[in-house]
Amino acid sequence: MVMLLNQLGLSESEFFEKTDATFKVAAHFINWNQDENGKPIEFLNILNAPGALDGRQFADYFVTFDPARTAPDAGIAYVRAFSPVAEIVRGNLAPRRPGEPDFSGEVGYTYHFDATKVAAYLRDIATSRGVKHILDDVDAVNVDERGFVTSLGLRERGEFGVDLVIDCTGFRGSILQQALGEPFEPYGEHLLNDRAAVVQIPHKDPGVIAPTTRATGFSAGWNFNIPLTTRVGTGYIFSSKFLSDEEAADELLSFYGDQAKGCEPRIIPMRTGRVRNAWVKNCVALGLSGGFIEPLEATAIFMTDLGVRWLANYLPTQDFEPELATAYNRHVRQVYEEVRDFVQLHYHLNNRADTPYWKAAREDMTLSDRLQENLRVWQHVAPEDLDLGSTFLFSSPVYTLLLIAKGFYKDRRLSRASSLSRTTYQRARDAERKARPGQLEGLISHAAFLKTGGKAPAGSVMAPHAGMAPAPELAGTKIKLKSQPARPRQSRKKKRR
Ligand SMILES: Cc1cc2nc3c(=O)[nH]c(=O)nc-3n(C[C@H](O)[C@H](O)[C@H](O)COP(=O)(O)OP(=O)(O)OC[C@H]3O[C@@H](n4cnc5c(N)ncnc54)[C@H](O)[C@@H]3O)c2cc1C
Repeated sequence: MVMLLNQLGLSESEFFEKTDATFKVAAHFINWNQDENGKPIEFLNILNAPGALDGRQFADYFVTFDPARTAPDAGIAYVRAFSPVAEIVRGNLAPRRPGEPDFSGEVGYTYHFDATKVAAYLRDIATSRGVKHILDDVDAVNVDERGFVTSLGLRERGEFGVDLVIDCTGFRGSILQQALGEPFEPYGEHLLNDRAAVVQIPHKDPGVIAPTTRATGFSAGWNFNIPLTTRVGTGYIFSSKFLSDEEAADELLSFYGDQAKGCEPRIIPMRTGRVRNAWVKNCVALGLSGGFIEPLEATAIFMTDLGVRWLANYLPTQDFEPELATAYNRHVRQVYEEVRDFVQLHYHLNNRADTPYWKAAREDMTLSDRLQENLRVWQHVAPEDLDLGSTFLFSSPVYTLLLIAKGFYKDRRLSRASSLSRTTYQRARDAERKARPGQLEGLISHAAFLKTGGKAPAGSVMAPHAGMAPAPELAGTKIKLKSQPARPRQSRKKKRR
């Protein structure tokens, strides 16, 4: 989204204003794994990757030399070793200093937003740039003898001739699936969750807005918590094999207590999987009409964006060259399998023993051949992009982070460990420790940043502790807060996604 807005030449501040948007610097996972006393483990999935050390992966050093790798909070310790994100999350800070330019930040970020408002905003931008927008219902799809869509039967406008149809009809899949009969390939053997109970609730304290999506493990699924400026979007993604709709709604509401008083969750059935081919003849399915993988890593809009870019790349002539559709469909299949495997890894590596759901998610689901093979390889070496079939969204550093956070390397020694230098790692850690106060300097509370549209409010202070373990590096460190706009700074780290 950051790249898209930037490429479209839009103002990020205006985007925030029009869509109730907030920053997201990490997905904050809680209670997907537990320590030996059953206490929930937390970790952060962030958008930056560490740089290499002497041409070797940073993770190799962490796993070999850092005693924190065996601790329950190894995931947080790992992130803290190369990035200030954990401190930014702990302090509920914005990733950018007041006065710094749009699309810049101390760390990589993306957004939370009101999707309905974003749709209206982008529609207005598109129509102002010459796109003709017709709002109508598609009641019929007319197809010629070759199976090409020739026209759509619109409820208000009547028959409407088309060259290329982009099917964006959501889970209904009105054109590609219903009219053209393209089959759907479900992912039910990989992923258990098939329903969502969703609700919007007020902020507990509007003065504290987390810069994260919180993903908390529940009894038969997980809860998402997405703070906007005006409200919190939350929901329970669960499996109907283990929980009824009523039980899911009760568990969700009781988790939020008074904050959700009087709120009634809406149930959304979710069909996980994808259409066999997203592009057939002159019809291309984008978004939910082409497929869906549960929202754990918030990948759907990114995948739609990718689909649009690929379609622009392979845009056919009126001959609809079949090679272009074949290439497009290959990419779509790859990206779906990539996201499916990464999402499934979160479940496969859980260690919860408290409910049958978590046991089934770990033991009873089918893993792709590639993921099975990689898990065997990664016992000996940390993940490399080389191991992965596609890295459109998730490249090797994020796999490494997940494995470390879930204790995969707790008792393992990498095969190349003996060739690493402890001093190199120590030097890198010392340098990072020294740099940390400067990285955090001038960052203000996320809520204050959003309230002032990124202008420095007088006397702004860091928001209180967000509930994570205190950062040892910061103990006793005074963080200087600037009240004047700071000089523009770009993220120092390589963006991972
Ligand atoms: C619980 C949940 C959480 C999610 N969280 C995230 C997230 O964090 N990040 C993310 O990227 N994605 C998320 N998604 C996915 C997100 O919903 C989609 O990315 C986005 O809404 C897809 O938009 P869409 O246009 O494909 O489908 P939709 O939003 O469903 O829109 C389809 C539209 O087509 C209309 N329509 C259908 N048939 C016809 C017809 N015949 N004629 C005219 N109109 C028709 C429908 O009325 C609807 O308005 C989540 C999904 C769920 C279920």
